[in-house]
Amino acid sequence: MDKIKMTTPLVEMDGDEMTRILWKMIKDELLLPFVDLNTEYYDLGLENRDKTNDQVTIDSAEATKKYGVAVKCATITPNAARVKEYNLKQMWKSPNGTIRAILDGTVFRAPIIVKGIEPYVKSWKKPITLARHAYGDIYKAVDMKVEGPGKCELVFTDAAGNETRELVHEFNGSGVAMGMHNTTKSIESFARCCFNYALDTKQDVWFATKDTISKKYDHYFKDVFQEIFDAEYKARFEELGITYFYTLIDDAVARVIKSEGGYIWACKNYDGDVMSDMVATAFGSLAMMTSVLVSPDGNYEYEAAHGTVQRHYYKYLEGEKTSTNSVATIFAWSGALRKRGELDGISELAGFADKLEKATIDTIESGIMTKDLALITSLENVTVADSEEFIKAIRKNLEALV
Ligand code: NAP
Ligand code: MG
Repeated sequence: MDKIKMTTPLVEMDGDEMTRILWKMIKDELLLPFVDLNTEYYDLGLENRDKTNDQVTIDSAEATKKYGVAVKCATITPNAARVKEYNLKQMWKSPNGTIRAILDGTVFRAPIIVKGIEPYVKSWKKPITLARHAYGDIYKAVDMKVEGPGKCELVFTDAAGNETRELVHEFNGSGVAMGMHNTTKSIESFARCCFNYALDTKQDVWFATKDTISKKYDHYFKDVFQEIFDAEYKARFEELGITYFYTLIDDAVARVIKSEGGYIWACKNYDGDVMSDMVATAFGSLAMMTSVLVSPDGNYEYEAAHGTVQRHYYKYLEGEKTSTNSVATIFAWSGALRKRGELDGISELAGFADKLEKATIDTIESGIMTKDLALITSLENVTVADSEEFIKAIRKNLEALV
């Protein structure tokens, strides 16, 4: 069999611990036998980040801007314990944070649906994709403890020195106060990322805020989305038969629970933080979530939503077998290869990504799965596979498909 050729390199960001072990297994068993892999490799493993003073992370993000598509392995975000464990020069920042700051954009997370891993919400039949705005609001706020009676005001001073004031509260006693912000640029880019992703995946967009109470702040989000939609996206949405729908956040929550899924739920930063954990858990597992960062100028970085699975790695180092779920990492690769195939007009590559995903889902639905899934499945007589056996079982199904 001829291997599938690639034209443009895919940016490959290797990572840490158990996911780094899975990364190599996936490449050896599921990719290299079938695809003439053309990647530009960046080793984001903690040792190399330390060695390069984290320049490798910056370089990998710049390469993503150059080529448009990246696939990333989970990486350690150092804390004090890691600084000691790896004897680091300093406590390097979160690679995801560094990459997001360079690419800008919105993170989209969606569950991978398989028979036998049923959502806790019975009506959910299709994935719900959560689009979380990743800038501002309470994550960039200043807050203050008020110790006694007094006046708290919000003061804006423009470039000419003119002041605008709003009374926050006239305190009779002690209390708390907060000032937060967002920027038009960031809200606009959030809106465009959501609408572009909807066009890409042919799904409706739902957006909700608390604009009835937050008449200026949240209302501004609502207005920005509507203006951008009407001016730039309305016609293309109509062509594809998809819709943009705005409602109040309380109403959205009720509708989401009663819906059958199959849409993008755009959330402000805090709502997205909370709701993405709820949606992931209700669908079954973090190891069964896809995650992609989409930048406003159309760059894509695919990753798994979970971490480096440190506890399993230490077992692996002691020579023990682990049963680590590789599905999210496999889907990071398939997502990136499909996007590369679409951008370069290589239908075989996009087709291979579909087959790889089908082989993975078929394996689980046939009753072969890792321990985390075996614990929650409704299937009977399942075989609990170790990390390697699971990937080899997928390989067998994949060979029958290609
Ligand atoms: P984690 O790696 O997501 O793992 C937490 C626990 O969840 C595991 O111990 C395991 O439970 C279960 N789990 C997660 N993924 C699994 C999988 N694929 N298969 C089976 N079980 C899985 O989170 P963490 O242990 O808190 O973090 C470890 C490291 O990852 C940290 O250094 C952190 O900085 C990093 N991290 C990176 C990213 C990223 O790069 N995107 C995201 C989050 C965390 P059991 O132990 O019960 O089996
Ligand atoms: Mg959270």
